[in-house]
Amino acid sequence: MLLLASSACSGKKAETAAAADAATPEISAPVKADADSLYALVEAQTSMGPRTPGSAAHARCRDFIRNRLKAYGADTVAVQQAPVTTFEGKTFTAFNIMGRFNPGASRRVLLLAHYDTRPWADRDADPANRHRPIDGANDGASGVAGLLEIARVAGDRLPEGLGLDLLFVDMEDSGEIADMESDSGDDSWALGTKAWAAAMPYTFDNWPRYAILLDMIGGRDARFHREYFSEQRAGQVVNRVWSIAAQSGFADRFPNSRGGAIDDDHLPLLDAGVACIDIIESANPETGSFNPTWHTMDDNLANIDRRTMQEVVQVVLNTLYSD
Ligand SMILES: [Zn+2]
Repeated sequence: MLLLASSACSGKKAETAAAADAATPEISAPVKADADSLYALVEAQTSMGPRTPGSAAHARCRDFIRNRLKAYGADTVAVQQAPVTTFEGKTFTAFNIMGRFNPGASRRVLLLAHYDTRPWADRDADPANRHRPIDGANDGASGVAGLLEIARVAGDRLPEGLGLDLLFVDMEDSGEIADMESDSGDDSWALGTKAWAAAMPYTFDNWPRYAILLDMIGGRDARFHREYFSEQRAGQVVNRVWSIAAQSGFADRFPNSRGGAIDDDHLPLLDAGVACIDIIESANPETGSFNPTWHTMDDNLANIDRRTMQEVVQVVLNTLYSD
């Protein structure tokens, strides 16, 4: 993902009307995210090595996701394959994996994360590292861990009548940094999600009520501000999730103010008409944008904060159960 504009650039704080939602949700999730389980799910991925497109580790990660989904009781696990071309002109097959729980339910929620990792540490301080692949512990593995933890604790005990779709998208992070200047919206990021959004398994009758993207949810002391495009285009979902976060005791983790404008997997879904928000660290106090480890060799297991992941995933669970 890519920061298009930071909150400092946009110069405006979010409207703070979120807490004024008419119906105050009950925070009553009967299931709890486990910090050690989340950490183990990240470690399982980083131990494979970088999951760059076309690599053996990428194929292993696909098997890992499919197997975990089945083990956690997914009713169906489907893989969409789509040809994609990177900005370098390289062609790959994108493999988007979706596990569905209670697939017959018309009332559905979609959660997603990317599992591919960036092939280059192009933000690393050492130029010698800038053509080496990153571990992607935060950028890739943390979001996948969040989704799998939700499958583990909630897959077989979803709220009555609720269907859950967990989507693991490919080819998010092989984009071109120069896109930052173009600001065109049509760019080299989120290639897997773009392919998936063109052939979504939804109809009028089971369209997702909302969708949540988890990206870089494992940074040390991370804060999750209201991402700009999410707020602009799915503001009611942002209001609800940030309100639930506050009621869950995580107001510090989820500040009720605007973060950056992020080019990420939520944009193709918003374009396709899905009310999708992005929970992402985008206003780090040190960098003004992402975590300092972003697209560097330091994006590794040693810099993962299991408490950050646990709180984010609990907020998502509380949201699912307060519908
Ligand atoms: Zn990235």
